[in-house]
Amino acid sequence: MAQVTGVGKAESFAASELLHLYGEIASEASTEEVLRQSALAIVRALPSERATVYQVIEETQELESIAVIGNVSRPIRIPIRRSSLAGYCASECEAFLVPDAYGDLSAVSGELRFDPSWDKMNSFRTRDVMCVPAEFQGGLLGVVQALNSTERPFDAQSLKKLQMLTRLVSFALHHARMYEELASLKCLKKQKAQFMRVMVHELKSPVSAAKMLADGLLFASEDDPRLAKVLGRITKRMDEMVGMVEDILHLSKVQDGAPLGEIGELDLGPLVTKYAEGYREAAAAKGLGFELQVPADPVCVRFDEQGFKLVLSNLVSNAVKYTANGSVGIRLERTQDGIQLRVRDSGMGIPAGDLPKMFKEFFRASNARKSNIKGTGVGLAGVKEIVERFGGSIEMQSEEGIGSEFTVKLPLGAGA
Ligand code: ADP
Repeated sequence: MAQVTGVGKAESFAASELLHLYGEIASEASTEEVLRQSALAIVRALPSERATVYQVIEETQELESIAVIGNVSRPIRIPIRRSSLAGYCASECEAFLVPDAYGDLSAVSGELRFDPSWDKMNSFRTRDVMCVPAEFQGGLLGVVQALNSTERPFDAQSLKKLQMLTRLVSFALHHARMYEELASLKCLKKQKAQFMRVMVHELKSPVSAAKMLADGLLFASEDDPRLAKVLGRITKRMDEMVGMVEDILHLSKVQDGAPLGEIGELDLGPLVTKYAEGYREAAAAKGLGFELQVPADPVCVRFDEQGFKLVLSNLVSNAVKYTANGSVGIRLERTQDGIQLRVRDSGMGIPAGDLPKMFKEFFRASNARKSNIKGTGVGLAGVKEIVERFGGSIEMQSEEGIGSEFTVKLPLGAGA
């Protein structure tokens, strides 16, 4: 049984006391811990022998709590019905006090019946009970109940104090729930990525095998120009398909949360040169200028090389792919608080209406979709995910028909 160590003398709580209580209630991020810690904090702060904090389970219209029975914590669930004290409080969203749970409860409601089974299980004699609804931004999150067996009866002042404490509980419950929802969304995203990876991996083998067969046929059909032309088109399409499968595999790997390579302090200058140079030829083949600027001094960040290759390759290959005339520029520089990688082009740009959606997976801008340029729309989503994982950010400026500039910012590594 929880011990009474309540303060209970002052008329209400001082701000510092409330702050301290909030620290206790919200010290853990899970709702289960918030329920438990809130009950303990209420017992300590009020002249209350026991407290139960319930949260509303909307799907089943129940109240759920963790009850400490002896040394064991047990989950309890009760339906939200007007016949129980906590249920009535939840149904009516009303705070009240009853002087004796076994006595006449009609002053609160004629429908109320006290259920003595918990008392029997706990060898307790509930006498006064206070119930307060825990509300946040107009919604009901739970119910806070304080119980005493004898001696120090609750009064209107106790109820007022419990209402103050309940506001803290509501706040903590709201945040714990939000945190849990976010965590489960993250988990769902991971599961989706894993599913995508398995599915696309399965697709990769037959596509690669068919591509090899088509290559073989193309080789054997040198003497038949008509057949060679058709086979040439087939192999080109299959190359695109293999490329897409690989893009999606990369994205699912990134979203799965696993590092793509070994994480360490990387000097980005030589890496930018190494990977960007690979696109010089493709740019020259389209008649595009290709400018590469990297600082002479080392610029070290914490990253993984495969991940960085993915970032740089995506941005530079897009710049070359979506540019018909003019030039592509890549510039790495050290800034006051980190490094900055800028990839700019004088290409087709992005329509203003599409800009907010550019980092969503599978999204392609309307002008890219209308053009003949192939793509999957997964590259930028992967770039953003991996850059943010290492504490960085990516920004984009683009004007349709004028060009685009992507800027990746990363914090400097510890050794920089
Ligand atoms: P993909 O190029 O395979 O479609 P990405 O995720 O790399 O996928 O890019 C998403 C979309 O962003 C592209 O489809 C295109 O509409 C747009 N985009 C990306 N980079 C550029 C660029 N440099 N210039 C114009 N549009 C771009």
